[in-house]
Amino acid sequence: MSFDYDLFVIGGGSGGVRAARVAAAEGAKVALAEEDRYGGTCVIRGCVPKKLMVFASEYSAMVGDAQAYGWDITGGAFDWDAFKGKLHAELDRLEGIYRNLLKNSGVTSYDSRATLVDAHTVALADGSQKTAKHILIATGGWPSVPDFPGADLAITSNEMFHLDTLPETILIVGGGYIASEFAGIMNGLGVKTTQFYRGTQILRGFDEEARAVVAEGMVENGVDLQLETNVVSMVKDGDKICVTDTKGREHLFDKVMYATGRHPNADNLGLESLGVARGKKGEILVDQYSQTGVPSIFAIGDVTDRANLTPVAIREGMAFVETVFKGNPTSPDHDLIPTAIFTQPEMGTVGLSEEEAAAQEPVEIYSASFKPMQQSFAGRAQKVLMKLIVSKANRRVLGCHIVAPGAGEMIQLAGIAVKMGATKEDFDRTVAVHPTMSEELVTLKQPSRTT
Ligand code: NDP
Repeated sequence: MSFDYDLFVIGGGSGGVRAARVAAAEGAKVALAEEDRYGGTCVIRGCVPKKLMVFASEYSAMVGDAQAYGWDITGGAFDWDAFKGKLHAELDRLEGIYRNLLKNSGVTSYDSRATLVDAHTVALADGSQKTAKHILIATGGWPSVPDFPGADLAITSNEMFHLDTLPETILIVGGGYIASEFAGIMNGLGVKTTQFYRGTQILRGFDEEARAVVAEGMVENGVDLQLETNVVSMVKDGDKICVTDTKGREHLFDKVMYATGRHPNADNLGLESLGVARGKKGEILVDQYSQTGVPSIFAIGDVTDRANLTPVAIREGMAFVETVFKGNPTSPDHDLIPTAIFTQPEMGTVGLSEEEAAAQEPVEIYSASFKPMQQSFAGRAQKVLMKLIVSKANRRVLGCHIVAPGAGEMIQLAGIAVKMGATKEDFDRTVAVHPTMSEELVTLKQPSRTT
């Protein structure tokens, strides 16, 4: 049977674009359909604009630091319009790069929604149909807002990059990556920021000591973090939103942003009629080769809800091409993924938390918490944390957790050692780079506790 394409990719985000390009480079005839903007969540409404906003928001504290270092400067107001214009020009540029990457790789792209018709056919929005030997679904995820009275008044991270004006006050609901990162951004940009989290500490699932250092730093920076608090209802009150919380209090905010998780973007794709199974959150269920129960249909990235991170989606896409187009069955490796949370203070982490490791085996905990030189000279009180979790049995470093300026950059490198199976003694054999914050990772002499 002959097909229009060897591969049809649905979704032009990080995973889909990479898989399409690499398959085309192998000589496959490839098409890709994207209904929105090329680059997906990461480039258009996630990692990239978020990080640029983190950078923008960090300058407010730097002015004070510069003064403390002797600079005769005064901070001015933040110009949201000027920043927003530059931000969107940059996103347009990046989207152009994504489009060109596809074009230059010989991939045919369709600016259209695509849905599945059968195991080898997709339908585009104009009603035309395309056939392909293999179909790859890479449609990503979308923010979820729970159902409650006034939920329609909430915005999500998607809208945060398009605000007409910066609000004077904002409530951010949630305690995960997105809520905690945006709390820092808004606070740094001068918005009076309140964060509600329903549990006892933000960033559930991460190392407890590290979460506490992040939360403490956020509060010191000025975020009004209200733990064990959730929204009951919201009503419009003039230009503002009146929020009633679970403690029976009422508050007025200019904006309310919900970051209460994301769900896989797999509805109305035609999956059910084909027998492609979905899990509890609606994720597409795949095997270790990203293959669904329908042999010609594969799925990668956030729509499969494995590890919802851009570099993971890219690796899943590469492993898919290796398996299907290079005849080399390859599973993406989801073990020991280093990751950064761009909160202020920033956190980088790889491997097991102290709690996970201690539940698994006897461990030694090495940690140092101190005021870093640069900020401490400027009179800032904020602490950093360098922490290693070490197996008592084989001395391997099971987890590394860093809360510090630049923690994301540091954990990328520490992640190599942890992934290689480095022991505490391997860390100790490495000469310290002085004076740095991360030198503590190789000079931690005594365990602070053992389990
Ligand atoms: P998360 O799943 O990380 O966090 C969701 C938060 O919302 C949790 O604190 C959760 O509470 C809370 N929550 C869930 N339902 C409700 C509810 N009904 N009412 C109140 N609170 C609720 O989701 P995010 O949206 O923050 O991020 C989604 C994914 O995006 C992450 O898992 C991550 O993989 C990815 N991401 C990665 C980034 C990075 O690498 N730096 C940055 C941003 C996103 P509880 O803890 O009690 O369940």
